[in-house]
Amino acid sequence: MNNMKNTANTLAPLGHLIDGVMVADDNRPQDIYNPATGAVVRQVAMASKATVEDAISAAEKAYPAWRQTPPAKRAKIMFRFLALLETNKDRVISALTMEHGKVSDDAAGEYARGLEVVEYACGAPELLKGEHSKNVGPGIDSWSEFQSMGVCAGITPFNFPAMVPMWMFPMAIIAGNTFVLKPSEKDPSAPMIIAELLHEAGLPAGVFNVVNGDKEAVDTLLTDPRVEAISFVGSTHIAEYVYATGTAHGKRVQALGGAKNHAIIMPDADIENAANMLMGAAFGSCGERCMAISVVTCVGDEAADALVGLLKDKLQHLKVGPGNENNDMGPLISREHHAKVKGYVDLGVEEGADLKVDGRDLQVDGHDDGYFLGPCLFDNVKSNMTIYKDEIFGPVLCVMRVSNAEEAMGLINDHEYGNGTCIFTRDGEAARYFADNIKVGMVGINVPLPVPVAYHSFGGWKRSLFGDLSAYGPDAVRFYTRRKTITQRWPEGGVREQAQYSFPSNA
Ligand code: NAD
Repeated sequence: MNNMKNTANTLAPLGHLIDGVMVADDNRPQDIYNPATGAVVRQVAMASKATVEDAISAAEKAYPAWRQTPPAKRAKIMFRFLALLETNKDRVISALTMEHGKVSDDAAGEYARGLEVVEYACGAPELLKGEHSKNVGPGIDSWSEFQSMGVCAGITPFNFPAMVPMWMFPMAIIAGNTFVLKPSEKDPSAPMIIAELLHEAGLPAGVFNVVNGDKEAVDTLLTDPRVEAISFVGSTHIAEYVYATGTAHGKRVQALGGAKNHAIIMPDADIENAANMLMGAAFGSCGERCMAISVVTCVGDEAADALVGLLKDKLQHLKVGPGNENNDMGPLISREHHAKVKGYVDLGVEEGADLKVDGRDLQVDGHDDGYFLGPCLFDNVKSNMTIYKDEIFGPVLCVMRVSNAEEAMGLINDHEYGNGTCIFTRDGEAARYFADNIKVGMVGINVPLPVPVAYHSFGGWKRSLFGDLSAYGPDAVRFYTRRKTITQRWPEGGVREQAQYSFPSNA
């Protein structure tokens, strides 16, 4: 609301962190809102092409020395960074809640999962030690090294402003690369605090740079020949654009996109327990998670009736309000997104789905201008409905009814997205068959949010990920390095060898 434009103007716009220095910038300042109040809390500058090029130059300049820095020394900086992240936890969490709106406990969970990647990155010497084979031929040894790429870049979404950047830069940096991060312009304060902490931990200037901005900044990163690799997380439409543009410019790209994650409820499931799990998985973070469950497919009407009854009841008790108070669910990220999600609920009604719980008119006392939407529950959703096909990214759960597990799996396998999924059952055979045959990258068995831990890797299938390698974990070591294989022999002094025209082999 216009009358809310207040404190922002008293603070300079958030600038950029380039070559170890905070750079002030008032280019195209954009408002940052507190979604719980609708008030502008500050502004952020939109970096020009020239500013992003400065960040790339800083990263390029820092690269030769950082590449030669022993992995153990890089790891030592990560250990100090980890300690600083712990001591500054409350500061980052309050920035997350202020600009994203998620409740503090959820922000703490996001932060903890980001820290786990930093913990994994502390194992740099082990992660990078390569492969060695002695005597691959007579007196010949061979080894593979995993060499750094150079300047890497990350482009991140609004919904995990702390965790998703931490999926990327710790792994890129410990592998010997330098990095330019372009966080979401909607909630850029948390990643900037984190970047400052990394420098406080002793990271040399230029190794990690942050540019705030929008398409202009992203396009500069995608096309500048000095950038070797791009990691992107965001919506599928932009992920596909980033992948196509980055690869056309010769870069290695991993671009993680959107999702429509289904849970299957088998007739033998503990329905009460599944309903509890689904409350968090569907409505946690106001449904603004790429791993949120947004569709529940119930096998049989009995399971569906029981589940819908339980969810209806539980939703009456869901506490919706500001994230810094004792609530279960906060607001959506923006006024525009609120209108979009509400529009989907209207459309679902028009399309003929049964709206069992309608959160469209929710008002939160004292927060009339906040972007709050109450939880919405649809029953009898069909696969031809838009609310089934599109990623809504809000507190809207669609229940579908099918007659058998094959039908439920068919829906998932036919959907354009393949990020996460889950089955609730007590039947090990059914669960094993599901895990083996479902066309989704991250699968839960009685685990509604199967987000892999830091020493595995995170990635969907189909249009949820463009590229070959997932985020963090072992895949990140591969993504941020180039394999080089060296074959070596030391012929005995004085021995002259004859030319060999056959292809060398051990035959
Ligand atoms: P978004 O695609 O709008 O924005 C992501 C990033 O791309 C931001 O940094 C933004 O500035 C930039 N961007 C936006 N429009 C652009 C354009 N036209 N050209 C170039 N860059 C552009 O996504 P969002 O709304 O911030 O985040 C929500 C989306 O991210 C959801 O679709 C969600 O599923 C997805 N997501 C996916 C994962 C995953 O791991 N698969 C994780 C988190 C979020």
